[in-house]
Amino acid sequence: MQCYNVALTDYKGQVPLEAGRGRRKGFDMDTAVAGSRPENSVRSASTMRRRPSPSEAEAAVRTLIEWAGDDPDREGLKGTPERVVRAYEEFFAGYRDDPVALLATTFEETAAYDEMIVLRDIRLESHCEHHIVPILGKVHIGYLPSGRVVGISKPARLVEVFAKRMQIQEALTSQIADTIQEVLKPRGVGVVIEAAHQCMTTRGIRKPGVSMVTSRLLGSFRDDAATRREFLSVIGSPRSAPHES
Ligand SMILES: [Zn+2]
Repeated sequence: MQCYNVALTDYKGQVPLEAGRGRRKGFDMDTAVAGSRPENSVRSASTMRRRPSPSEAEAAVRTLIEWAGDDPDREGLKGTPERVVRAYEEFFAGYRDDPVALLATTFEETAAYDEMIVLRDIRLESHCEHHIVPILGKVHIGYLPSGRVVGISKPARLVEVFAKRMQIQEALTSQIADTIQEVLKPRGVGVVIEAAHQCMTTRGIRKPGVSMVTSRLLGSFRDDAATRREFLSVIGSPRSAPHES
């Protein structure tokens, strides 16, 4: 764990999130789950369950409001269960998307380009699976293509698909790297995430300003020191040498 501040405004919007909002056509939850890879099976298992109806979900939010100590029938809270349920559809839209399909249907074969491709400072908005409160930070992705490349927005979309699920940062880091490895089959891939967890900053041990750095390095990013150095220097990471996960 490293101590430094993440300036969220620095990188906001640097990488366009293509059609960032709303859901993708052509996937419903069941087909997305059925098409998932084994690594995601833990997550998939929970989404295989019958999905509660909106009114069942709203009733659960009412219960949480009462648990917090307020009156869900109070004027100001009247529409809250419905709003929370709709917000959950946005926060967790990633369960309806298939990350492999996202990359597999968009890569291009280009033998000509074999230099490192790096996207840095991709905005990360996720929710921790332990407390369901925000994880905010940034993701850096690099890969050394071996014939297959994707458009600049796709790695950012890939981040979004995994981020819009209940997550822990370590798993999120691996899922992004492993999916790129599996679909694009590059010579190497590196993913570094720096993020602040609101479950640490607003509750529990209350440590504002602490962010966690995780990384997953595969292929030449793991095995070749020069490649790894190039990646880390492009993303400006040496201020905090990430530990591998
Ligand atoms: Zn948490």
